[in-house]
Amino acid sequence: MLDTQGRTIRYLRLSVTDRCNYRCLYCMGEEGVPKLSHGDILSFEELEEIVRAAAACGVKKVRLTGGEPLVRRGLPQLCRRLRDVPGIEELDMTTNGSLLPQYARELKEAGVDRLNISLDTLSEDTFARLTRRGSLSEALAGLEAAEAAGFTNTKINAVLIGGINDRDIPALAGLAREKAYSVRFIELMPMGECACWPRERFLPAQAVLDALPGLEHAGTSGVTELYRMPGWAGTVGLIRPMSHHFCAACDRIRVTADGMLKPCLHSAAELPLRGLHGRELEEAICLGIRSKPQGHHMDAQHSSDSLRGMNEIGG
Ligand code: SAM
Ligand code: SF4
Repeated sequence: MLDTQGRTIRYLRLSVTDRCNYRCLYCMGEEGVPKLSHGDILSFEELEEIVRAAAACGVKKVRLTGGEPLVRRGLPQLCRRLRDVPGIEELDMTTNGSLLPQYARELKEAGVDRLNISLDTLSEDTFARLTRRGSLSEALAGLEAAEAAGFTNTKINAVLIGGINDRDIPALAGLAREKAYSVRFIELMPMGECACWPRERFLPAQAVLDALPGLEHAGTSGVTELYRMPGWAGTVGLIRPMSHHFCAACDRIRVTADGMLKPCLHSAAELPLRGLHGRELEEAICLGIRSKPQGHHMDAQHSSDSLRGMNEIGG
């Protein structure tokens, strides 16, 4: 379906939980999220109903996210149900990877097409400091488990954080040397926990091009600018919400774990979907698509207008 800016919206990012087993400094507070009762989170039935209605509005691709989607009990069963929804051509997931050794095979069997695995550093110490609870070895085990389960075209997402992981850029990019990973560097967006961080933390993605002068531009894929290093198996990508406005290429809507449709990641506008069914639900989703704003207003002086942190929206 087309929005009012002529963008074709075919991609739904669905948050299945706001909880996480990590506490990344830029995403969540030390203490995590207030405990919601089970009923505050969309049930599997409600999630499936939303995906069916979204498919009727032209959505073809669904990405499960969170919080950490794999902390939601029974997630592979949900994946199987969503993959079977008529009109859904691709089911993907964004994960911190820590639980993939346990779940990768089941996810593959359930029909999950592709994984995005978040990995901001290849230093043990920085990883522990950044995630507050994770270990690099479990994240790397997750990458291996994904490969062993047969996942291909895996994307590795690294958020750039000035003064914390700038020195990791060459090593992270180097993951694409031998394997066909797409390693994507994402500019940190000022929202939630990091909304008031000092300016030097918001490293422009130009730092990647400066660190790897051999990169050659190789087109775009959605909001990602693609680069190739001659001889490498994979690609390096830049996602630059801060230094280059990418809103014209935005083809997505989002639904939070408590059932609010967000037409734009960085707008405060939300439409409640809970309690709606059938035609009413479809109309609400189509209304959300039509009300997608032209773009966000973040820059060095202004943080996101979203009233929620990233763990509640899913990135
Ligand atoms: N827990 C999963 C994970 O980390 O992949 C999925 C949810 S997480 C919110 C999704 C993505 O958003 C991660 O790649 C994370 O690094 C990124 N993210 C979180 N806060 C961000 C921010 N302020 N700016 C840019 N990316 C952010
Ligand atoms: Fe959890 Fe992902 Fe947020 Fe890190 S970025 S705290 S792994 S939801």
